Amino acid sequence: LLFSLFREKKRRRVVELTEKMLVDGDTGSTSDWDDRWNHIKKFLERSGPFMHPDFEPSTESLQFMLETCKILVIGAGGLGCELLKNLALSGFRNIHVVDMDTIDVSNLNRQFLFRAKDVGRPKADVAADFINSQFHIIVCGLDSIVARRWMNGMLLSLLVYEDGVLDPSSIIPLIDGGTEGFKGNARVIFPGMTACIDCTLELYPPQINFPMCTIASMPRLPEHCIEYVRILLWPKEMPFGDDVSLDGDDPEHIQWVYQKSLERAAEFSITGVTYRLTQGVVKRIIPAVASTNAAIAAACATEVFKIASSAYLPLNNYMVFNDVDGLYTYTFEAERKENCSACSQVPSDLHFSPSSKLQEVLDYLTESTSLQMKSPAITTTMDGKNKTLYLQVINLPFKLGLADGQELAVADVTTPQTVLFKLCFTS
Ligand SMILES: [Zn+2]
Repeated sequence: LLFSLFREKKRRRVVELTEKMLVDGDTGSTSDWDDRWNHIKKFLERSGPFMHPDFEPSTESLQFMLETCKILVIGAGGLGCELLKNLALSGFRNIHVVDMDTIDVSNLNRQFLFRAKDVGRPKADVAADFINSQFHIIVCGLDSIVARRWMNGMLLSLLVYEDGVLDPSSIIPLIDGGTEGFKGNARVIFPGMTACIDCTLELYPPQINFPMCTIASMPRLPEHCIEYVRILLWPKEMPFGDDVSLDGDDPEHIQWVYQKSLERAAEFSITGVTYRLTQGVVKRIIPAVASTNAAIAAACATEVFKIASSAYLPLNNYMVFNDVDGLYTYTFEAERKENCSACSQVPSDLHFSPSSKLQEVLDYLTESTSLQMKSPAITTTMDGKNKTLYLQVINLPFKLGLADGQELAVADVTTPQTVLFKLCFTS
């Protein structure tokens, strides 16, 4: 279905384009030298054993990729830059890049928002319009799970359902690449059809921290010494005054932590504390490995090529790559989660006893491995009015207001949409 849809979109746009070219008298290919796209044409203009069964080789696919297909690349770091190069060399010319210098979802919004005409409009609406009206495929080369989930939620919010049936033309495919040191993954998501980011949230484990007893009394690694200074010494000594929290981007802060970590390391005869490592630990930097980025970017760009040309079946749907020790890779089909809070269209049940407190719900929303929210804000409807459940009441039991079956709407940075839950009282 999706492939025929893409073919149709493509055909329509090629027709539009050809008409436009006739009007402009522009051949559109002046910057190409002869045979520039020969390597691509070999895949698109003749048939082969791995082709999509419904694909008919023609010159249209290349035309579509060169002139019409618009791709949004999110992230221009190690992975993103590699991706951009691969896409450009594969024949994609309409590439829009959104980069975030710091990991912050509000930044993602700002990038979309930077247009005077949009002032005063809801951020999520502007972002939705921007994506929906422009792009055929979205590629994420991000190092932030929150930003990835936000993008996932955005694409889900663009889906159109008619009588509960998904309109396939509202689907914008998401190709997601991620790397962490020597490990990486590439996945293909058709929002509303295949497993989304939140369906497989358990695959992203919460940050691993060193046990506190190791940090406090039995350090063995240079990292333990740096963590000791970061977690225990800084709050105790407050070297830059009260209320000044440790800033990983402030060289004076890092210098202080570095010196104290050296002292701590000397005490336990531990070597290896460096300024660079100190900054890495404080800022939680996992070293980027160029070869991992290259492999994952290549896999992602290949998927973009397959989907845009509709000449090959896309990855189904998750590829894991690991070159920590030798080289290991496999693919599997991540399955949709029936009650996924992002893509299931059904409010998930929250089971609590009537004497539970709002704080317990908040804890659950942030600590559950399948939700991993960051700073949830809950609203509900009471007596026909929308009510925000304020922090002041978090320690009061539900029976003072909330009822069994009550719907709770939760807003969080991990998604542009509010997520609905249904409160179910357990006895
Ligand atoms: Zn999902």
